[in-house]
Amino acid sequence: MSLYLHSRTVSGKPAAIIAQIPCLQDNYGFLVHDLASSKTAAVDTPDAEAINKVLVEQNWSLDIILNTHWHGDHTGGNKALKAQWGCRIIAPGGEHSKIPACDQTIGEGETVQLGNLQAQVIETPGHTAGHIIYYFADIAAAFVGDTLFSLGCGRLFEGSAEQMWRSLKKLRALPDDTDIFCAHEYSKANADYALSVDPENEALVERARQITDLRAKDKPTIPSALGLEKKTNPFLRADNDDMAARLGMEDAPAAQVFARLRQGKDNF
Ligand code: ZN
Ligand code: FE
Repeated sequence: MSLYLHSRTVSGKPAAIIAQIPCLQDNYGFLVHDLASSKTAAVDTPDAEAINKVLVEQNWSLDIILNTHWHGDHTGGNKALKAQWGCRIIAPGGEHSKIPACDQTIGEGETVQLGNLQAQVIETPGHTAGHIIYYFADIAAAFVGDTLFSLGCGRLFEGSAEQMWRSLKKLRALPDDTDIFCAHEYSKANADYALSVDPENEALVERARQITDLRAKDKPTIPSALGLEKKTNPFLRADNDDMAARLGMEDAPAAQVFARLRQGKDNF
């Protein structure tokens, strides 16, 4: 896969460019470049070299790194990029001791300014205990790390199913036209599982077809609009009556349905 550049507008005018950079096995690194100020943020740093190459090619300089969580495939490039650019590193409060070269911590409801753009921080514990996401409302983009994937969600390494379900509901409350920029290209495997638990969902069947087609052409399936995820992603549908009924869990609380779905995926 190659680099993808997404132009974003605000009130019809070009406002930002999002660079989506394939890294490592199946990660994406992201750069958000504010056109008004020429400031650039990296969301996570899976691979310093790959990210640096894009910065140099685009003639951008790196001002901030925004980490979503401490895992090495999200923070491994922190030190090298900071050494190169002298950028400030912002990381989730609960994880700062595990995040290389962290300068500042941030949490729920706080914001990060990138020139004219602003990112809101939403805490989404579950995959890790301190996981956060960065939501750029102006350009309808949410950088969700390993919390939500297209047709999937992150594994529960440090949190409970209840916690993750609560986190996903917070994400689900964002506007439908929000583009979800997740940190891994897992959509094909996620689609196979999603179809196994929700085979009659026509929107899902169609999205799975599209994913197969894109991957056959070595194209990314990310970003994915939240509105589409709400219709197709089984993990966002744990409180859907049909979903619960199919699992024989009509009377169970949604968090339990979610737990069953997550367990099913772990063993799929
Ligand atoms: Zn992770
Ligand atoms: Fe990851």
